[in-house]
Amino acid sequence: MHLLLIGPPGVGKGTQAARLRQALGVPHLSTGDLLRRHVAEGTPLGAAAAAHMRRGDLVPDGLVTAMALDRILGPSSASGVVLDGFPRTLAQAEALDTALTGHGRRLEAVLHLTAPEQTLLRRLTGRRTCAGCGESYHLDTRKPRTPGRCDTCGQRLVQRGDDTEETARARLAVHAEQSRPLLARYRLAGVLHEVDGSADADDVTRRLLAVLAPHPVR
Ligand code: AMP
Repeated sequence: MHLLLIGPPGVGKGTQAARLRQALGVPHLSTGDLLRRHVAEGTPLGAAAAAHMRRGDLVPDGLVTAMALDRILGPSSASGVVLDGFPRTLAQAEALDTALTGHGRRLEAVLHLTAPEQTLLRRLTGRRTCAGCGESYHLDTRKPRTPGRCDTCGQRLVQRGDDTEETARARLAVHAEQSRPLLARYRLAGVLHEVDGSADADDVTRRLLAVLAPHPVR
């Protein structure tokens, strides 16, 4: 099953995508994670994307689309994929539709996760990551035993560069503006489902799976 999780930064897309991947047995593709890996490894794509990401802007369509389609059409996604963060624009959505159709596939469901802005801001600015092993924490919901230190490896916890309040607000604004036409497109196509993402993570997963239940897994 090819499905897309769409929603503002901080709504829990990453968490839910990982759970859907397990439940449905298909890979999870996060273009944000892929791009951050390119930046960390200093690839040419990473170098081109870094400045856009730091500002909280979208990376240009051409760069992201080539990178994402390469994965989506690859053998690892033959039986489906949980898309997270791609497509983000109409141009990306059109490129995806064309590519999937060309391979006899289609996007079966688009799950739109929503939550109030204050909830999203708090979730984003409270996130911390271990500089050593990459383990994730949150100042409200997943506190480390020792403040500022990783429970697993003891290294320092850091805030992702685009999780500061200023950048988080910019990312929410970019998301609201960019997602409007995308949501309209998928609503019109009859594949859009709205799901409340402000509940606790287990509840949200249950709701997502209930929405997907009528879709045959193939
Ligand atoms: P995310 O982790 O999904 O919030 O993505 C982090 C950043 O990566 C975004 O703020 C964008 O700068 C960039 N990015 C991720 N996916 C896309 C995409 N499909 N199109 C453009 N930029 C993207």
